[in-house]
Amino acid sequence: MSAADEGALRRGIVDTALDMERLGINQGTSGNVSARLLDGFLITPSGVPARELSVESIVYLPLDVSDSDDVLRTARPSSEWRIHRDLLRARPDMHAVVHTHSTAATALAMHGREIPAVHYMVAAAGGTSIRCAPYALFGTQALSDHALAALQGRRACLLAHHGVVALGADLSRAVWLAHEVEVLARQYLLALQFGAPPVLTDEQMHEVLERFKTYGKRSKDD
Ligand code: 13P
Ligand code: ZN
Repeated sequence: MSAADEGALRRGIVDTALDMERLGINQGTSGNVSARLLDGFLITPSGVPARELSVESIVYLPLDVSDSDDVLRTARPSSEWRIHRDLLRARPDMHAVVHTHSTAATALAMHGREIPAVHYMVAAAGGTSIRCAPYALFGTQALSDHALAALQGRRACLLAHHGVVALGADLSRAVWLAHEVEVLARQYLLALQFGAPPVLTDEQMHEVLERFKTYGKRSKDD
C-alpha cells in the first residue's frame, strides 16, 4: 500500500464520519469509524465532531496494540479502539467498522431489545436477528468482549444503553448497514405500537440469507 492509498483511506474515514452525520445516524462526538490498513487500522480520534476532523487527525494503530503501548499516550484514538481492534482482528473478511448512537436503534438498545426477524432485511446483518450486547462502560474491554460475542456470525449488533456497531468489507458497506439497522429499528418501533408484530420463521429467514448470497452481485467476484 502506497502513501497515496493511505491518504485516500484517511480521506475515506473523514468522509464516512461526515456521511453518518448527513444520514442522521450520528451527531456531535458520538460514534467512531475505522478501516483496516495493512497490519493495523486507521481510526477517528476521540471526542472530535465529524465536521472538525482532518485527514491528519486520523490515528493509525497496529492490530496488536495494547493498553501499555506508547502510541496510546502520544495519540488520541477513539475511546472504542478496543472494539475496532478486536473486530478487525477476529474478522479478516471485514475491513471497516462503524459505531453509532443512532436514535431508533438506541431506543431499542435502552430496553436491551434485539431486532427479531420482523422484516426480511434483518438478514442483511447476516442472521435471523440483530442481537443486543449486554451493557458495559464505554471504552472498556468488557464492552468490546460483549460486542464481539453479539457479532458472532453477524455484521451488526446493538449495544445495550448505548448504540450500534456495524462491519463491512469496506467503509461504504459498513455505513450502509449501520443506516439499514437504524431504518429497521424505526420500522420495528412503529410496528410495536400495534403490539408485538409476528416474526418470520427460521426457514423463511434462511431462504432470504441464501438469496442474499447472490442479490445485487453482477459477478461472482463482486
Ligand atoms: P470517541 O469520541 O472516543 O470515539 O467516543 C464516542 C463514543 O461513541 C464512545 O462510545
Ligand atoms: Zn458510543
